[in-house]
Amino acid sequence: MPWWLKMFYPLLTWQIKTDEKVIYLTFDDGPHETATSFVLNILKKHNAKATFFCIGKNVQLHPEIYERIINEGHSVGNHTFNHLNGWKVNDENYLSDIKNASAVIQSKLFRPPYGRIKKSQVKILQPNYNIIMWSVLSGDFDVNLSPQKCLNNVIKNTAKGSIVVFHDSAKAMERLAFALPKTLEYFSEKGYVFKSITM
Ligand SMILES: [Zn+2]
Repeated sequence: MPWWLKMFYPLLTWQIKTDEKVIYLTFDDGPHETATSFVLNILKKHNAKATFFCIGKNVQLHPEIYERIINEGHSVGNHTFNHLNGWKVNDENYLSDIKNASAVIQSKLFRPPYGRIKKSQVKILQPNYNIIMWSVLSGDFDVNLSPQKCLNNVIKNTAKGSIVVFHDSAKAMERLAFALPKTLEYFSEKGYVFKSITM
C-alpha cells in the first residue's frame, strides 16, 4: 500500500482500530461457484466470519451462493455491478453502476474495484457508504506469485485490526486454496479471531 494513497484518502477505512486480536478477512469479486464455496467451507471449519465484496452481475449469476454467504453469518459489500475502474468512468456512470449493484446487494459497505476511485466519487458515496479499503493485499490475484509468497505476504503484514484482501475468483484459486487455510491456522493458533465488518 503506497503511503501517499492513504494520505490522499484519510476518510476511507484502511484498517479497524482495536486492541483485540481480531482480523478482518475480505473476499472480492464473487460470488463464484467453486471459489466462494471453497472459502465458505474453510471459514466454517475455523468458525471464522468474513466480508464478501460482491460484484452485482455475479450475484445475479449465483444467487444461491450469495444467499449462502448471508445465511452463514458473513457480511457483504457492494463492489459495483460490472467491476468498474473509477478512474476510467465518469461519476454518473460509476454511481449508476453501484446503484444497480445495490438492487441485489443489501449493504452500506463499498469497496472500489482495483482500489481506484476519484475524490469526487468518494464525496458522492460517503454519505451512504462506508468505503472499505485494506491494509494487507495477499496478492492472490497475481498469477506470477507463488502460493507460498502469497501466504508470506499475509503472515508478514497482518496484525490486530488488519483488513486483508483475498479474491473468491477462478484466477486467484491456486494461491487462495493454499494461503487461506494456512492463514486461518496460523493466526488461530496465535489466539486471533476472524470477524466480519459490520458498520
Ligand atoms: Zn475486484
